[in-house]
Amino acid sequence: MERVRVGKVLCIGRNYAKHAAEMNAAVPAQPIIFLKPSTALIRSHEAIRLPSMTSNVHHEVELVAMIGRGGRDIPPQRSLHHVTAYAIGLDMTARDLQSEAKRKGKPWSIAKGFDTFAPLGELVPAAEIGNPQELTLSLKVNGTVKQHGTTQNMIFPVAHLVSYCSKIFTLEHGDLLYTGTPEGVGPVVQGDRLEATCSRLPSLEVTVV
Ligand code: MG
Repeated sequence: MERVRVGKVLCIGRNYAKHAAEMNAAVPAQPIIFLKPSTALIRSHEAIRLPSMTSNVHHEVELVAMIGRGGRDIPPQRSLHHVTAYAIGLDMTARDLQSEAKRKGKPWSIAKGFDTFAPLGELVPAAEIGNPQELTLSLKVNGTVKQHGTTQNMIFPVAHLVSYCSKIFTLEHGDLLYTGTPEGVGPVVQGDRLEATCSRLPSLEVTVV
């Protein structure tokens, strides 16, 4: 892939029913959107740094879509034409800070936005991926499978998410969309090796320090 300047990092919460259930949360009627700063991004073979403000950081393996042609109010039937590439990513989450934020009605920006909290694998042109709703995602921690799911089980498919987000934000070339995690999220600790894989995409390998 060409080098692209990353724009907004849009993320979707609770987009798989079994993950909503493990969080004791309702299945949402509309996509739950939050943003991460682009400073949270790291690439494969880099390290997630555990912040001192949290003692419970979770992995969430997710399919990530990159916007090619920008737009706003994109109809769902057109929206996949605006996706130029896909990658596997991790939405790292300080679960303790997120739980406190939920309880107090505060935003998730801190829980989700620390430096290194958005590992991103190599981007692959969308044309090579085909239907984004037929991909298998998995995550191993130290060689043991912790998460395994299929994008068939997304509550809101990628086409819907791109269209929905474009009603709120003008989408631009280089924006990223983390599309939510299947069940099996759990904590990581110093020294862990994480390997995220997804059919037809290069794997993402990061360590925790
Ligand atoms: Mg997530």
